[in-house]
Amino acid sequence: MENENQPLIIDGKKTSATIKEELAKEVVKIKEAGGKVPHLAAVLVGDDGASQTYVGAKVKACEQIGFTSTLVKLEADISEEDLLAEVDKINENPDIDGMIVQLPLPKQISVEKVTARIRPEKDVDGFTPANVGRMALNWPTYVSATPNGILELIKRYEIETSGKHCVVIGRSHIVGSPMSILMGRNDTPGNCTVTLTHSRTKNLPEICRSADILIVAIGKPEFVTKDMVKPGAVIIDVGIHRVPDETKKSGFRLIGDVKFDEVAPISSAITPVPGGVGPMTIASLLYNTLMAAQGRVYP
Ligand code: NAD
Repeated sequence: MENENQPLIIDGKKTSATIKEELAKEVVKIKEAGGKVPHLAAVLVGDDGASQTYVGAKVKACEQIGFTSTLVKLEADISEEDLLAEVDKINENPDIDGMIVQLPLPKQISVEKVTARIRPEKDVDGFTPANVGRMALNWPTYVSATPNGILELIKRYEIETSGKHCVVIGRSHIVGSPMSILMGRNDTPGNCTVTLTHSRTKNLPEICRSADILIVAIGKPEFVTKDMVKPGAVIIDVGIHRVPDETKKSGFRLIGDVKFDEVAPISSAITPVPGGVGPMTIASLLYNTLMAAQGRVYP
């Protein structure tokens, strides 16, 4: 029988605004106690438009909630050695609590080398091998922004995960793979039986139909259709795609990896695009920066 009830719309826009308010209150408390305000440094290499927008939004969010931020802008033709030296400078600067290096990086630079150079204590993106390892071990860590945002939505919307079958589509290092680890951990949220699927998976629709919780990070517009979803499932749509739309002032609209209009009516809860997972990422980064400033991961 299909669940044609109204699904719970998991509102990431509202939740991220709430988290930012909570963080802003923390900053006020820190200031009142004479403590040090959290300080995030963002490194931007080159002039890629999307990267500039993302970094700009992160810096602006810091300002909004009262964090200190530093934007380090570097030329696109910077050598790997010089970029590593910039990372070292931030590593050594006692005033900076957290750092991010905006990806992608130009071709001459090894992302692995740069990531590994960031001190784990300051790695608020949670991309260093040390912090990914700590996540897998369920030790205190900085969980990277998108997975952290998804966990926070699941927590705040009190979605039961224990004993559920969670199917993750996509195994990228930034979304699918960490999500599969997090949902299987002995924790709340967690304790799922997890199936991680990817481009070599056989019978994907059948596997998806057995999911109580379906997390979709495949990067293909409206890939997940109604026939791939069990009625009553919880759907987390990570995808973001621009499609031309003449009715919009911008000339485009955003859609996800899930065909929302047909999947939402049979789901029990679903994240919309836009306004679902997307807005949560900056809130997660800010939260990790506060944790760094308070020494909550590496006391
Ligand atoms: P990616 O391209 O790195 O990974 C896609 C994954 O999908 C790969 O692991 C691949 O194996 C798998 N895949 C490809 N074809 C498949 C198939 N036919 N069947 C099963 N699996 C298949 O993507 P990503 O970086 O994880 O991003 C996924 C989507 O999420 C993109 O649309 C991206 O824009 C979006 N995204 C959103 C946020 C956010 O903040 N909301 C953050 C990161 C990524």
